[in-house]
Amino acid sequence: EQAEIGLIGLGTMGSNLALNIAEKGHRIAVFNRTTSRTDAFKANAGELSDRIVPCHSLQELAAAIRPPRPVIIMVLAGTPVDEQIAQLREVLSANDIIIDAGNANFRDTIRRFKELESTGLTFIGMGVSGGEEGARHGPSIMVGGTEESYNRVEKVLTAISAKYKGEACSAWLGTDGAGHFVKTIHNGIEYADMQMIAEIYGVLRDGLGLNPKEIAPVFDTWNTGRLNSYLIEITAKVLNADDPKTGKPVVEIILDRAGQKGTGKWSVIEAQQLGIPATAIEAAVAARVLSSLKTEREAAEKAYGDLGLGRISGDKDALLADLELALFAGKVAAYAQGFAVMSGASQQFGWDLPMPTIAKIWRAGCIIRSQFLDTIAEAFSAEDNVANLLMTPAFIAMMKEAHPALRRVVARAAEAGLPVPALSSALAYFDAYRQGRGTSNLIQAQRDFFGAHGFERIDAEGAFHGPWGSNG
Ligand code: NDP
Repeated sequence: EQAEIGLIGLGTMGSNLALNIAEKGHRIAVFNRTTSRTDAFKANAGELSDRIVPCHSLQELAAAIRPPRPVIIMVLAGTPVDEQIAQLREVLSANDIIIDAGNANFRDTIRRFKELESTGLTFIGMGVSGGEEGARHGPSIMVGGTEESYNRVEKVLTAISAKYKGEACSAWLGTDGAGHFVKTIHNGIEYADMQMIAEIYGVLRDGLGLNPKEIAPVFDTWNTGRLNSYLIEITAKVLNADDPKTGKPVVEIILDRAGQKGTGKWSVIEAQQLGIPATAIEAAVAARVLSSLKTEREAAEKAYGDLGLGRISGDKDALLADLELALFAGKVAAYAQGFAVMSGASQQFGWDLPMPTIAKIWRAGCIIRSQFLDTIAEAFSAEDNVANLLMTPAFIAMMKEAHPALRRVVARAAEAGLPVPALSSALAYFDAYRQGRGTSNLIQAQRDFFGAHGFERIDAEGAFHGPWGSNG
């Protein structure tokens, strides 16, 4: 019996995805560059082993799958994907579908899609979120490619995806790079989410002087309210964990230098290219970069010494309530920005991205999964053409309630010398966004003064210059 689908790359993600596919009843042919890994995978697959066809060459892989063949590539993003595609082209035939499920840059996906278009093969760029656990038991799946090609693999993708109250977290989002773009923005939002949580942790640790065991229950409690989400849940778990070697809370022995693999940076670059402000995401990416300057930061701490910036005092319960609401308000701004970037990209790249669907398939399986995304899905479903989440009636009401807390937290953190870059840029974004008359009139005057760039008037049509005379 031939396999229904193939998979290349039995690393962390690929092997878990393959087991997930097999578990849902699909026979799957697998190939890995390092052959021993393929054999070990089959040997360790337990009762799923019957449905796994190990292949030692791509020829074998192609022969093992029933045409038209869907083949998932789950290898290191970048050149390895191009190499795999080139080799696969040799053994596949017309109507076969190559699915890149790694974290590709969507611009590479657009290129690959175009390159394969003329060969009779079809290309799908598929964003998969949820890490190892998600891949094994149900990820969120964001698909880009032709709708026709999605229809052909929809059954298996729906089967392996996460479910939110029975609804599959897998969807076709648009042509060529749409799926990988949405995955990129998912990760950008994830950066902002994580950074804001870390900022609140900083206020609790350094502003209130709480230890990890005291902070954990705060997050646990928040997880039962409006902040209910996977990231809040694991934050509490992380704070509760002890290092087996020293017996200390494990967070305290972890170096404060954050890694990144590029999707956050891509989000920011694309936002800038599109001219869509994504300040909270930008702040989160910059914060990781700044965190990596460990030696410089240590030197600066010495150079500036004790600036006498105190702890945060006052009613602890009131502050905790503020922190919860501030984190929520910051989150609203970050998500509004992420969705605005997708909206801009949708126009730019001709995707027609379905915002309610995107919010829906993020409700389970992925790293940013949360209750909140259900609220976002509702807000996007209630109206057509939402320009910005901040303009939907539901979110206007929520921000009216939450912004004072964000304001107080940012102000008190600033006074105490505690960096809250993502929260404060979220607040600045909110304040600038809701300001009908801003301050760029002055910038236009300056630009005209030194560069004769001209300006528009509030009381007449056309382009004008200021009375700067020979000063300009
Ligand atoms: P791993 O490092 O666990 O596995 C990498 C896989 O790629 C291995 O099968 C490896 O084969 C193969 N590979 C590497 N280079 C080549 C090459 N030049 N030619 C052929 N095969 C190659 O990575 P992950 O499973 O974690 O990640 C795979 C993809 O999934 C990446 O794009 C990643 O960004 C993405 N991803 C990862 C997530 C995660 O949480 N880990 C979450 C979502 C997406 P070999 O055994 O021969 O070395």
